[in-house]
Amino acid sequence: MKIHVMTLFPEMFSGPLGSSIIKRAREDQKLSIEYYQIRDYSANKHQKVDDYPYGGGSGMVMTPQPIVDAYRDILKNTGRENPRTIYLSPKGKAFTQEMAMELSREPELIFLCGHYEGVDQRVIDKIVTDEISIGDYVLTGGELPAMVMIDAVSRLLPGVLSSPEAYQEESIYSGLLEYPQYTRPQNFEGREVPKVLLSGDHEKIRKWRRRESLLITRERRPDLFQKIALTKEDYKLLKP
Ligand code: SAM
Repeated sequence: MKIHVMTLFPEMFSGPLGSSIIKRAREDQKLSIEYYQIRDYSANKHQKVDDYPYGGGSGMVMTPQPIVDAYRDILKNTGRENPRTIYLSPKGKAFTQEMAMELSREPELIFLCGHYEGVDQRVIDKIVTDEISIGDYVLTGGELPAMVMIDAVSRLLPGVLSSPEAYQEESIYSGLLEYPQYTRPQNFEGREVPKVLLSGDHEKIRKWRRRESLLITRERRPDLFQKIALTKEDYKLLKP
């Protein structure tokens, strides 16, 4: 997958997207990420990229010209007519694992990171295909949300994780929150690993994990729990 990011702060990305699994995916050519410094495209002699909002109000708005010129530059590299172009915005649709799955099937993605009070609406109308929010809170810029999305999408690309089961069993993807995980030592400061996990009985372990998942989802995310089609076995597992 090829990812293009339009931003005023490309240096913010190097840590999170230059480490660990994403770093390896890039080295293995499963993923490429290019940054486009919006300021470099400004036709203004002082490389200005923002201006006061028409109609008044606080803060500054990112002007359309540098963004659209950066976008045109990206199009020259993609050779695609209408690539998926995502504007990170608290006004967008809430980002979900399902969206991450869907976007992971695209060959190329373009991200536009806003700053200040956001971008001129005409940019959104002209180039944006998806306006996406990472949650009901307001951040100073779209860079962290873009990194969150790129991370979530990239780990679903074929070959990035060791096997598809690695994410299929995880919280949210499976429809449930994940069961608790334990590793060595067996006793940590007086706290024991649940005995069933040491039993070697795979069927018992499967049932224990399913029960834990059901209980934790029912307690923490009743909205998800409501959507699960409970099996006969689930009802049995949930009996006190
Ligand atoms: N004035 C905007 C509003 O009320 O909707 C908020 C602008 S915010 C301070 C600056 C930029 O941060 C936005 O243009 C967007 O790119 C990004 N941003 C902030 N919160 C976000 C969120 N929850 N999800 C995605 N992007 C966000």
